[in-house]
Amino acid sequence: MSAEGDDKPTTPLEPGEPRVEPYEHAAGGLGAVAATTRYVKREAGLARGAGLLLQVNQEDGFDCPSCAWPDPEHRAVVEFCENGAKAVADEATTRRVTPDFFAAHSIEALRAQPDQWLNAQGRLTHPMVRRPGATHYEAITWDDAFAMLAAELGALASPDEALFYTSGRASNEAAFLYQLFARQLGTNNLPDCSNMCHESSGVGLGEALGTGKGTVTLEDFAHADAIFLIGQNPGTNHPRMLSTLREARHRGAHIVAVNPLREVGLTRFQHPQLARDFIGKGTEIAELLLQVRVGGDVALLQALAKAMLEEEARHPGAVLERDFIERHTSGFAAYAAHIAAAPWDELVRDAGVPEADLRAAAAIAMKAERTIVCWAMGITQHKHGVANVQEIVNFLLLRGNFGREGAGACPVRGHSNVQGDRTMGVWEHVPPWLDALAAEFDFQPPRATGLDTVGAIQAMAEGRARVFFALGGNFLSATPDTEHVARALAGCRLTAHVSTKLNRAHLHTGEIGLILPCLGRTELDEQATGPQFVTVEDSMSVVHPSRGKSPPASEHLLSEPAIVARLAHATLGARSRVDWLGLAGDYDRIRVHVANVVPGFADFNARVREPGGFTLENPTRRLAFDTSTQRAQFTVHARPSLELAPGQLVMTTVRSHDQFNTTVYDVNDRYRGVYGHRRVVLLSPADLPDLGVKAGEHVTLVSHFRGVERVARDFVIVPYDLPRGCAATYFPEANALVPWDSYADRSRTPTSKSVVITLRRE
Ligand code: SF4
Repeated sequence: MSAEGDDKPTTPLEPGEPRVEPYEHAAGGLGAVAATTRYVKREAGLARGAGLLLQVNQEDGFDCPSCAWPDPEHRAVVEFCENGAKAVADEATTRRVTPDFFAAHSIEALRAQPDQWLNAQGRLTHPMVRRPGATHYEAITWDDAFAMLAAELGALASPDEALFYTSGRASNEAAFLYQLFARQLGTNNLPDCSNMCHESSGVGLGEALGTGKGTVTLEDFAHADAIFLIGQNPGTNHPRMLSTLREARHRGAHIVAVNPLREVGLTRFQHPQLARDFIGKGTEIAELLLQVRVGGDVALLQALAKAMLEEEARHPGAVLERDFIERHTSGFAAYAAHIAAAPWDELVRDAGVPEADLRAAAAIAMKAERTIVCWAMGITQHKHGVANVQEIVNFLLLRGNFGREGAGACPVRGHSNVQGDRTMGVWEHVPPWLDALAAEFDFQPPRATGLDTVGAIQAMAEGRARVFFALGGNFLSATPDTEHVARALAGCRLTAHVSTKLNRAHLHTGEIGLILPCLGRTELDEQATGPQFVTVEDSMSVVHPSRGKSPPASEHLLSEPAIVARLAHATLGARSRVDWLGLAGDYDRIRVHVANVVPGFADFNARVREPGGFTLENPTRRLAFDTSTQRAQFTVHARPSLELAPGQLVMTTVRSHDQFNTTVYDVNDRYRGVYGHRRVVLLSPADLPDLGVKAGEHVTLVSHFRGVERVARDFVIVPYDLPRGCAATYFPEANALVPWDSYADRSRTPTSKSVVITLRRE
């Protein structure tokens, strides 16, 4: 057994104790109004903040920089939630991180500060460089920064020694130029944040349905009879979804939630923009909450299917859509036999949910003519994440929930343009339209598969990758195994981050570190031909414009498309026939190329200017399945073993309510009733005596994987309503425990939702 300790942890320890005060109200409501007002006032000022918020998600405004939940066709004056408001205020903060700030704070000193402190320092104003051996960042001109990048990329033995990471905020225009640049340089090393979140959805849906994207539109929620929410916490991660669910409930739709933790947002909701909702207790969201064991989703979905198949056997034709199954699917017989052979007692044990509750959920599905299943990271970030997704597809196929209004599969994406970036070709694999790209720009792109996020980490750790470039994001805090990734980044010759605000990834650089400050979504993007807009694609494949109007936080900021274009121009020079600087001066020209290359984007410039943009076609909606059999596939999956040794727990990482992805706005988690502290471990009260620990005790968490122990010190025990044998901790603090080499079969999504840990008393 080897150990990876944290004598000097990359994520600093946190003095003090949490205040624990169970939250007794509905999600949303006055609490959301108060929190929104407080945060907007603190960061942007009330008047300025309110002006900006009226532009969020509006036809002529900017896309919310937070999650990827879609906008309704008919928009209200107010189209944002608490989290969207926090994201906008966070970007519009009046605080600034200038060269003087960096002169006053060494990198070592900044490492000792918590994430929320780093984020709270404000917007980056100048390009900065950390030169080899330097203790501080210093200012650098854009020209010198691009020349430095071009020289380092030019000095590589192979283009495959470079990594081009993307976070889901990058616009379609920036993403298209970025992948073009990487491929013209000669590499498909395009890891992205999708590798870490919905890659299991893409692989699972792709194999089973022939498309890696969700199959529903927002309008479908108005027609669904039943909605299942699995491994998802919409109250914190996509709050505007609660308005959609509230409407569905008022209409009489049934909602079932499947989640280990009892989350406030899954139970009750008061619409914060409807005064009449403040009277009473709000709307019940889920009528049934199945608190599945962490990792028990395959068993749970198989149990639902088993109950349905048993009912069909009793009343032939009453449950299954036989005609749909015969005409549009394959693999049903093997699947049905597999489910029939699964003993109920094992399904109940592995799901951790009483049989009566499983049968009650199945009864809802059997009555519904139209069912939607939504899911997020609670499904995808497991070793069997792809199997989880495909069991969802199996469940939906039984009653023919594709190709009809009000039914289908809905992976809910976390970052505003994560889906669009992949559509634009940010992918380590070769996109199906590579030949069109080659013809459009007259070059020979590389054909070999590049590195995904896990592969990128390991290439850096082994010295096979020398330059790491990140278009947005906070790679160090988003990835698993924090200490390992910090060492991997430090082994590079150069690391560069395009960012709006300071984050931990800036503090663990290669020999050379660059910070390249960019415009935010709220800001006016003025280029050679005048003000520009960019486009994004939401979780339901709607492509629409995003237009910032506010003055930029600094005159030294560049837009992301301009940064990519100038980088490409400096690096490729005469080797490229692309008019990089011309494209950066007129984003319509980028969209003309996209239209020529990417299927579904014909007439892009005209269609995206229509109200609401346009929706990319999903062939499954007309029952066209681009699989090996040209039919939707039932798939058979063995239930994963969930056996634990005495004293072991399965830990899932979660986000707090004052957080969006790696950005920590504040240290409170209102809905879970945990205030002022983030290094907490949530445990079932029933487990505490067996584990020999008490509420409030400080413990060290130790993860166990392939004989390696990883350690994170000083977590405070907080009792919480979750199944026995399970634990929950906040990410990114607990990422140090997630092994880099533990990932989902086939999709390689890190297993951040199922980490085996033990507690060690301090
Ligand atoms: S639901 Fe998501 S996209 Fe909509 S306002 Fe909230 S954070 Fe933004």
